[in-house]
Order: sequence, then C-alpha cells, then structure tokens
Amino acid sequence: MHYEPVIGLETHAELLTASKLWCGCSIRFGRPPNTQTCPVCLGMPGTLPVLNERALELALRAALALGCRINRPTSFDRKNYYYPDLPKNYQISQNYCNLGEDGRLEIPVNGEVRAVGISNVHLEEDAGKNLHVDYPGADYSLVDLNRAGTPLLEIVTAPDMRAVEEAVSFMQTLRRLLLYTEVSDCKMQEGSLRFEASISMRPAGTNRLGPRVEIKNLNSIKAVTAALEYEVRRQSRLLQDGGEVKQETRLWDEERGRSARMRTKEEAHDYRYFPDPDLLPVAIGDALLDRVRATVPELPLARRERFIAEHGLSDYNASVLTDSKELADYFEGCLQHHEAPESIANWLLNVVLGQINQRDISIREFELGPERLAELVRLMDEGAINQQAARDVMEKMVKTGKTAGALVKELGLEQIGDESDLAPLIEQVIEENPGPVKDYLGGKQAAVGPLVGQVMRLSRGKADPKLANRMLREKLEAMK
Ligand SMILES: [Zn+2]
Repeated sequence: MHYEPVIGLETHAELLTASKLWCGCSIRFGRPPNTQTCPVCLGMPGTLPVLNERALELALRAALALGCRINRPTSFDRKNYYYPDLPKNYQISQNYCNLGEDGRLEIPVNGEVRAVGISNVHLEEDAGKNLHVDYPGADYSLVDLNRAGTPLLEIVTAPDMRAVEEAVSFMQTLRRLLLYTEVSDCKMQEGSLRFEASISMRPAGTNRLGPRVEIKNLNSIKAVTAALEYEVRRQSRLLQDGGEVKQETRLWDEERGRSARMRTKEEAHDYRYFPDPDLLPVAIGDALLDRVRATVPELPLARRERFIAEHGLSDYNASVLTDSKELADYFEGCLQHHEAPESIANWLLNVVLGQINQRDISIREFELGPERLAELVRLMDEGAINQQAARDVMEKMVKTGKTAGALVKELGLEQIGDESDLAPLIEQVIEENPGPVKDYLGGKQAAVGPLVGQVMRLSRGKADPKLANRMLREKLEAMK
C-alpha cells in the first residue's frame, strides 16, 4: 500500500521588540546570564504583568499578513507546567481566544501555488534556558532567565501539507513573510525562529487522520526536512509491517540523523489552561487595527507577480529580486532614476549580487545607493560606456565615492559609439586578420567573434561591441 504523510507545523518566531512581553527587560541576545531580569520575569510573588504594546502590534501585523480573522477582544491564558526554567510554573499564552484565526499562506510548490491553512496565530512568552554543566564531577545545572518572558509569535498550521517539499516551501515562505513584514529577524542560529512538526501517515487518497507524532528539537529548516523524511520512512515501514504508530513526542537527534521517543503525547487538558486572572482581555479598536493594517507591506508573492506584470521581468529575475524586501526596494529605487527594468535587473543580478555575496554584506550595506547605480546603468544603456568599462567604473565608485559620470570622464572611458571613429579600426582589423576573414567569407558566421575581439583590443576596450559587430559584418558582406 502507498502511504502519504499529513504534516502540520508550529512556528515560534521571536518578535522584533526591544523588551520582554510583560516587563521592560531588554531581550538583547548573548548577554551574561541573568542580567536581563526583574521581579516580573523572575516570577516573584505580587508582581503583575503589563502587555508590551509593540509586541501586540507586531503579532497583529503578522496575523493580518496571514489573512487571519482577528478576535476582538483577544485574551490570555495560563498554560501550566513545571520546568526549572519557568519560574512562574506557568506560561502566559493564548488558548481560548487567539489573536488571529483561520488564515492562509500561499506557497509555491513545483511551479504551482498551494494554500496552507493557518489555524491560529497567537502571542506567548518564552521560557528561560537550562544550562547543563558538562564537566567531570559536576552534578548540577544552571538556569539563565534572560530569555524568560521574550515575546513569541506562535503560528499553527492546519494539517494541510502532503509532502516534505510542501513543508520546506512553507517554512521558507513563512520566513520570508516574517522578514518582509519586519515582525522577526528570523535568526535561526540565535533561536529567533523555531519549528515543531507533527506528522502522521495514511493510505494515499483516504481522509482519515492517523495518530500524530510530534517532533521537537528542530533548529533549522534543514533539520526539519531531515526529521520529516526520517519519520515518513519510519512510520511507513511500521504500517507496512502491520504495526501501529503511537501518538507521541519525539526528539530529533541531528548528529545521528534519527528521532527517539521523548514522551507519549500530552493533551491540551494536561496543561490546565485557564484565563489569566492578572490580565484583562485586550480590546483591539478600529484605530489600532487600521494603523497596523497600514503597516502590512506588499507581500513577496504579490510583489513577484507585479514585477512580472508591471516591469516585464522574467519569472526567475522577479523571484530573485523579491527574495528579500531590501533587494526588491533597492531595485524599485533604481527604477525611479532610470526606468529600464530589464537592464537594472540584469546588472543587479549578474554583477551587484555577485559582489555583495562575495563580500558577505547585504544590499543595505552596499556603498552605492539606488540613485548612483541607476546612473551607471543609464550610461551603459545610452552607449556611453560598455559593460567591461561599467564594471571598472563601479569598482572605482565603491572605492572613491565619485559619481559614474565623473569617473567615465576622468578615466577616459567614453565608448567609441561613432561610426566614423570606429571605421579606421574596422579597416585595420580586416587587413591584419586574413584567417578569420577568409573563414567568414567561406560561410563561417562565428568567425566575426574574434574580429570584434580585435577591434575591442585596438580600442582599449572603448569600442561599442554591438556597433563593431554590425560594421564588421557589413564590411565583410560587401567583400563577398
Ligand atoms: Zn523582567
């Protein structure tokens, strides 16, 4: 029998606030242990939480970008469990009235667009961190509560994905959306974006949902992918052998490439969720909703479609340019100064991206702003300089801070784009290269290539190669 996976994902994204969800402590990463704490996030008796308004706005922006219905008012609940890094013995989360529900995210899968349902989007606080001391004789662990109370956005999908590739595309698309909307910095290496997957298998084509296995300890998209592939194999084999899959939570062991049972699955009622009596429900007025809605930017997929329709870009170019908001903004910034989408796109993709990737900087850190780059591309489009000259000019623009126009003059790079200036060079090249000339006259069209190369060499790279090509062909055709 053929089995298909049914996959759901829970994503935790750390919100881009300066402070924690219920107190004013900083959430800066990498500070010495327990230096960013106060009585509220240490869970001292008698303290009261106060909601971070910025966190609510960011969560709301994400919920709107994901097309969720917003619950007004929304409210907070206590999720009760004991863990040494959770001083209150409960986590403030949302269960009965999530901030957003019934949204969707469109993801590209094998050239098509699929919608994945978003069951809910809610706010919750992060726990601290246990540090397990790892040297001989140590018989204790330490707790760092700097992270306790960090605002998290949890995004829960419906069990809508039917293949591991769909889950991969979902994670990439969601990450891009969270970056675009500036809701989270999504730094996976710092734990700002974390995933948990649930997966069950069923005979292909049926609607039954089998027992779910949840996988935790997934620190990267790569880890989720490997863990899901492993689970597909493990569960399929179990079922094929007539066994049963148990509902349980498993831990992914990245080094060994396998998962192991952590505990049999807890149910929601194990957490004894109840409304937090310290927190009133939060009214979300029209003014707040409108204000936040106005901050939802054009989303990547829509922007890609618009780049194709409005700027006439290829699917590929549009995809690469909209991969990050900064790059898409930079591209459109260039267009304001030189309305030539194709040549700007080509120069960005073929030259600028190569350079910034090599230097490991972002487009935001690139020395040339859109206006200065646009000027360079315009000089090239107008035939004032050729591509090779443009590359040299760009390099000098970065180093000297001078404009493209000034450098072209200074370096004497103006392209020879005038027929009368080029004619003597064409004559000379034909005279000095009887071999290729004979080849061309004998019917070998490609022989014009080396001749153009000679013209470029004689002109020290300043000839317009297109014009040289045309003039050479005309001259040679006349010799036939
Ligand atoms: Zn605090």
